[in-house]
Amino acid sequence: MTEQVPQKADPESLQHAAEVAAVLAVLQSGPPLATATRAISVVLKAPGKLVLAVLAGILKYKPGKKSPIGGTRPEDAAKKGNRRYRAAYLINAIKRLAEAPDLKAALAREKTLFTAHKKASTRRIEAAKTSGKLSDITGNSTLGWGGVLDNRTTPDCRWLIGKNYDVANPPEGLHPGGRHPKCRCFPAPPFPGKPVVTTLPAQL
Ligand SMILES: [Zn+2]
Repeated sequence: MTEQVPQKADPESLQHAAEVAAVLAVLQSGPPLATATRAISVVLKAPGKLVLAVLAGILKYKPGKKSPIGGTRPEDAAKKGNRRYRAAYLINAIKRLAEAPDLKAALAREKTLFTAHKKASTRRIEAAKTSGKLSDITGNSTLGWGGVLDNRTTPDCRWLIGKNYDVANPPEGLHPGGRHPKCRCFPAPPFPGKPVVTTLPAQL
């Protein structure tokens, strides 16, 4: 999971969370490319050349302040989450390039990874919308985590399936169907007597 925003409280994750917050602040304020490059280069202690390669070459960075995301729909929260994922992607991409023996090949690979990142962003929003719709239709703010259990089910989805979640606060901010590229989970009417989960266990 190259773009995950870790939430565990170990020093490395805290460092990562601080970097995500700082990079997010730069991206949101939308300074000119040269300023954004310098700021992120300082925050990440990374060569400006690599920051510029990702900002301009992969993200197609455009200056301009990002308007705050208002609204209380599940998809609004998903959009806010996506901005953090974008910042995390940028950080990880720069680190991958810094470690790559062949920069040109690494940049080509990065384009593929960014396409996958964008698909994941869309998937998270679509999943949030689906949750919101079912919540509206059924009048339930709590829904059931439905899914398919077989040998392809991931441990996190396996753990979630059959439990309930709060549409306004799903575990890790991710709705059923939005956890993985091939997540086959879906929102369902709440399962009576089953727990409402807001986080995942640290170990799965
Ligand atoms: Zn799933």
